[in-house]
Amino acid sequence: MRGNAGCYDELREYMEAIPIIDCHDHTDYCKPRYIDPVQVIVNGYFVSDIQSASSDRDIQIINDYNLSLEQRWPVLKKAWERTCYTGYAKVTKLVLKKFYNEDNISLDALKRMKDKLLDLENEDTFKKILDEARIVARIENILEIDYRQIADGSYKLSPYGRLTIPLPAYHAVSTYEDVERIASPLNRRITSLDEYIDLCFDIFKAYKNYGAVAFKDQSAYQRSLAYGNPVKAEAEKVFNWFMEDPRRKASYPDGIKPLDDFLFHEFMRMARDLALPVQIHTGHMAGIRNDIVKTNAANLRGIIELHRDVQFDLFHANWPYSGELLFMCKNYPNVSIDFCWANIIDPIYCQNMIKQAISSVPHGKIHGYGSDFVGMADRAWAHAVIARDNIAIALSDLVDIEYITLSEAKKIAYNLLFKNANDFFNLGIKP
Ligand SMILES: [Zn+2]
Repeated sequence: MRGNAGCYDELREYMEAIPIIDCHDHTDYCKPRYIDPVQVIVNGYFVSDIQSASSDRDIQIINDYNLSLEQRWPVLKKAWERTCYTGYAKVTKLVLKKFYNEDNISLDALKRMKDKLLDLENEDTFKKILDEARIVARIENILEIDYRQIADGSYKLSPYGRLTIPLPAYHAVSTYEDVERIASPLNRRITSLDEYIDLCFDIFKAYKNYGAVAFKDQSAYQRSLAYGNPVKAEAEKVFNWFMEDPRRKASYPDGIKPLDDFLFHEFMRMARDLALPVQIHTGHMAGIRNDIVKTNAANLRGIIELHRDVQFDLFHANWPYSGELLFMCKNYPNVSIDFCWANIIDPIYCQNMIKQAISSVPHGKIHGYGSDFVGMADRAWAHAVIARDNIAIALSDLVDIEYITLSEAKKIAYNLLFKNANDFFNLGIKP
């Protein structure tokens, strides 16, 4: 992408040298080692666009690596032609050009790629790609993690990783088994809600000792962000009910809600006491066929009003509800906007929203980039290109209408890509 403004090129070039904090990612270890050219194209979030443009049946054919390229190509071609202009498709195009020197997707291109597939299990290769994007730190939300390795400090993060405390499983407990799963690595037997709350706090403290820089919660995939504020007795009633009979399960959504909501508030108090910010998934969800209404950041206003000593980093620019998030960031001192993932969900949305954000909310509360992949340094690199483009287009347009000067635009870009997140997450990285 390229902006129209006169200063675009100078600003974009300047931004190339700015180090980036990757505000959100899921890389547990360096991967993948690509085994099929189609895997390079239909991967990451782009799978969802391809699925949305084709059918559940077609996506199975496309991803069946046992079929020949010749068999899969007509199905992929048809879907690609229907979705080749989205932000996700742009990631694929950038990856193809940079790592395989291919301008277009074709059967011949796929055949040429076969012998050059990247091995991202090689840590040096993985790290080199991150270095090219000038990514200097990554806030990692590891989806499967063994608590014991956190407690004894042996857990190995992927390159430039900084850990977050994964929150959803701790407040979505609905069975005896859920509680036991959480308690067993600590060899503890839980018999009451108070004991469970103590257990969770001990776990979170161990994460902080390990070096965790934030809490992370993506419960919006499963439940509404509209947390109530129930009294403890309501939560205890649910907890005691399923604990005294391990065959019981609190029902979704109403049965579990008093406990889930109560625990979430308890954990916000812990975040306050541990002085750690809380990252929350809002807006668009990965995959297809989910309920967007429940994920609107506006649902969080009760949480944010009450927990004023907790800093909230609200994700994905709340796509597609930009207005609500701008209001919340302007209105609440403890809300920041995080553009992680959003830069590729919808580049134009981000360009417009960044412009609007500069003119409406404190620019020190905006986090400009988060790759949000599991592995895939190649796609994180492409994502960083798009994020830089989006920010450069937005800021250079503001220079063009004389809203800000070019030197101010450079400072803002530095803040959005590096300084704001470095300060917010207390990373202590020297610029
Ligand atoms: Zn994520």
